[in-house]
Amino acid sequence: MKFRIIGSGGMYPTPLPHCHCKVCESARNGNEKDIRSMPSLYVEDIKLLIDTPEDIFHTINKSKIDDFDYLSISHKDPDHVRGIRLVEGMYFDWKKESPKKTIDFFALPEVVDDINAMNGDTLKFYENVLKVIQIDACKEKIIRDIKITMFDNYTNDQLHIANYVFEQNHKKLVYACCNAKPFRHSDLYDHADVFIISMVDLTKIDHPNRKPYPFDPELFSIEEIIELKKKYHIKKIICTHIDCNWGNTYEILKEYEKELDGIEFAYDGMEIEL
Ligand SMILES: [Zn+2]
Ligand SMILES: [Zn+2]
Repeated sequence: MKFRIIGSGGMYPTPLPHCHCKVCESARNGNEKDIRSMPSLYVEDIKLLIDTPEDIFHTINKSKIDDFDYLSISHKDPDHVRGIRLVEGMYFDWKKESPKKTIDFFALPEVVDDINAMNGDTLKFYENVLKVIQIDACKEKIIRDIKITMFDNYTNDQLHIANYVFEQNHKKLVYACCNAKPFRHSDLYDHADVFIISMVDLTKIDHPNRKPYPFDPELFSIEEIIELKKKYHIKKIICTHIDCNWGNTYEILKEYEKELDGIEFAYDGMEIEL
């Protein structure tokens, strides 16, 4: 299986307009690994795109992706949904008023409902009117020989969120792309080769301004990530959904990686092959 983190940013892209922190300035100075699109993942083998944040048009261009066959959205939040117009831009022919292609869209049934409720029935419009997607509301999907399980890491009745588990030939990758905490247990995570996880406080452990934990119920500390890695016998953890708030340029994160065992930090274009 071949994956590419095409958007490693968080709620907003980096550089962020109006922000003059050292990470944003580094990005403006052309340090490519500090330039981050909002969160999305591409699975090369099956041309699957996960999530369409607001800047997805730009991200797709930057990634040189010309086409996809499958689309899935993890949850209803704007930093994962609001670029959904990508499907009409790419696959609806406005001159002929007909679809060029119908994409197989899959998501948890609760997430399909959440997205429609939050975004004016947008998925229904794309399925029934423009016919650029066909919706498969499901918990599991097999595409060729890749098994994809969507585990609902919901935190309350208002938010359902899929953590994706990809399996093929005894290899396993988990993508917990947003709101991974509070963390719901699943046996599915056991012995993952790679676990991509979001919303980790990237302040270095010995940083003088580091707050005591847990100060934010939605954020993992690095200590908790280390625990998670041990508990589930995970070979490698990759932290993604990275905003400039932590004040760490990629150069700093790369140094930080040396202190950690099997924990890495994502950047746009990061490839993972299992
Ligand atoms: Zn900034
Ligand atoms: Zn998010």
